[in-house]
Amino acid sequence: MNLSNPISLGFDIGGTNIRGLVIRPDYSISELVSETCQDDYGEILQSIVRIAGNIQSRENSKIGCVGIGVAGFVDNSGVVRTSPHLSTFTEFPLFDRVQEEFDVPVLVENDATSATWAEVQLGSARGTANTIMVCLGTGIGAGLYLDHRLFRGNSGFAGEVGHMTVVPDGLPCPCGRTGCWERYAAGSSLGEIAESLIRSGEVRSLTSKADKDLRPFRSELITELVLEGDKEALKVLDKFGYWLALGIVNLVNIFDPERVVIGGGITELGGSLIDSIKKSFDLLTPEHSLREKNLVTLAEFGNKAGAVGAALLAKERFLST
Ligand SMILES: [Zn+2]
Repeated sequence: MNLSNPISLGFDIGGTNIRGLVIRPDYSISELVSETCQDDYGEILQSIVRIAGNIQSRENSKIGCVGIGVAGFVDNSGVVRTSPHLSTFTEFPLFDRVQEEFDVPVLVENDATSATWAEVQLGSARGTANTIMVCLGTGIGAGLYLDHRLFRGNSGFAGEVGHMTVVPDGLPCPCGRTGCWERYAAGSSLGEIAESLIRSGEVRSLTSKADKDLRPFRSELITELVLEGDKEALKVLDKFGYWLALGIVNLVNIFDPERVVIGGGITELGGSLIDSIKKSFDLLTPEHSLREKNLVTLAEFGNKAGAVGAALLAKERFLST
């Protein structure tokens, strides 16, 4: 085992998966190891320890530090105050509990903030001074990198952009309010938009693409159809792009970033996702020609970003010489 050059472990705890990987001393990144995640903190901790063991035996190197990115309100002491899709993480001392499992230093950070760090340091926002990363999953979270620094806010809760109201009295949100952005433009919204366009008669032939067992449509199916060039699926994407652009325009008007990086599984849509956002962005932003030309880009790290960023943050804090 290599004891002189320790590796950095990174984890991303999401609503449905726990993902882990390693950043090696030369900044090369291992494959992602993923386990499905129950809403049970005991099982989540076991999963982290199990993934760490798997990775360490594969890498045959000493672990130097552990970074954890987690969806939710993470305060400055590493307590998850609340997590939108994991009820088990309510006032949960995640930092303390993970630290008990490892004899190396541990860091806990919000997952979108971690992902943003990955993109700013090694990904599609490299070299920028002001970047907003919008992470689309079950909900929408954002990481804010302003004037060369991650911005966490007073309590560590900054970037909860998914709960911006975009439709007064709109769809109900698990947060208790209505019309939140993430009810219209999260990763899972693509399927919901398809359903609503079918109900309103704006889209018809999609129904023949999938047998009844596949209804209601899931976002993954719409993604597949878009990638096949299905015209009706592209209509669904345009509507999704409108909702996404609506929130992005709000953020751009506030922060004037150099990049808006879109992350999450939905980035599999590639250039067609950017095109659909741009179409509406230009209509919603009269001064769009004054903005950066390639303002909105896709994340480079895809579903690895949260874990990569968490490992990088830990490496920089604990292993930099
Ligand atoms: Zn909400």
